[in-house]
Amino acid sequence: MISKRADKFTSFIVMDVMAKAEELERRGENVIHLEVGEPDFSTPKVITQAAIDALQNNKTRYTHALGLLELRQAICDFYFKEYGVKIIPEQILVSTGTSPALLFAMLAILDKGDEVIVSNPRYPCYQNFILAAGGKLKEIKTRPEEGFVYRPADIKKKITPRTKAIFINSPSNPTGIVMSKEQLQSIAQFKKQYIISDEIYHGLVYKDRAHSILEFTDKAFVINGFSKLYAMTGWRLGYCIFPKEFSNVMQRIHQNFMISASGFIQWAGIAALAKAQKDVAEMARIYDERRQYMLKRLREMGFVIHVEPTGAFYVFADARKFCKDSYKEAFRITEEAKVGVTPGIDFGSGGEGFLRFSYANSLENIKEGLDRLELYLNKYF
Ligand code: PMP
Repeated sequence: MISKRADKFTSFIVMDVMAKAEELERRGENVIHLEVGEPDFSTPKVITQAAIDALQNNKTRYTHALGLLELRQAICDFYFKEYGVKIIPEQILVSTGTSPALLFAMLAILDKGDEVIVSNPRYPCYQNFILAAGGKLKEIKTRPEEGFVYRPADIKKKITPRTKAIFINSPSNPTGIVMSKEQLQSIAQFKKQYIISDEIYHGLVYKDRAHSILEFTDKAFVINGFSKLYAMTGWRLGYCIFPKEFSNVMQRIHQNFMISASGFIQWAGIAALAKAQKDVAEMARIYDERRQYMLKRLREMGFVIHVEPTGAFYVFADARKFCKDSYKEAFRITEEAKVGVTPGIDFGSGGEGFLRFSYANSLENIKEGLDRLELYLNKYF
């Protein structure tokens, strides 16, 4: 029998939309994918070459459970260069993507019944990491006009003696909103809780710059990885930065559950940090071009963009004028207009009536997808 805990894990609806789109494609239909949050770019050659070299040099064994020292040192150097924060390799766990790193962070801090604050809407997987570690979700409804960023007063009201952590995600999936320095500072004032800062979209910021939570507090777990910035989703490489006192427990957790991340892929990660700046800058330039195009078209069609997204590769558009049930509408758009879109409800009840559009697709495809969507809207609304 399936355990009660496992039975509570929610599905990741975007994957269901993608499965529907793929089913249509198998029937010979052409579908434009604006649902997936995965770079359409190939991994930069300097990174691929480093992996090939590592394989040819037999870097095919387990590594230190926390990850190759060379990679952890490169991550320390990167955080110092980007944010001026000093961390040491003993504060880093390299894992197979940010996803397992996040699960291990939850295992390290939560006891059964501990509470974790998340915003609603938010990245859908968070709740399941928390549940898996025995924690309880405490949701805070955020407001579209405020870019769905928390109000500290709302957090204060939710905190109890059992509240162990507060999740933030900037630039955000699904909203693309980048939190300001002041907003991050206002979250860092909560000193009794750990701030779990998902910084996976750092580097994909098109105005100003992103700040790391570590600039404002040490009582944080930073989640970051290579999937998005370096177009390396399938490589599975990510990391967690944690307070020093967690070094030994994170090492024990990883020794047992993963042994280590894959060695040759970690060498590719070192090359990404050292040599892929030009490729990243070019990808960011192209994302920004698509972002501006998509925003313009969606606004012309009548979608409301409450706060302009300036990071990641998503537009979270208010479609309440067109739809009440985002789940039904997203599937109908996928099936009839042949454009994959993600329903806002995937991100929690606070996302109902919204649709998430990803611009991790070529400008040509985005244009075609939005043309199809426009025809669809003209037909029904
Ligand atoms: N956090 C956020 C906000 C994401 O969008 C994703 C990927 N969709 C992840 C974490 C997980 O990334 P990965 O496991 O590929 O590093």
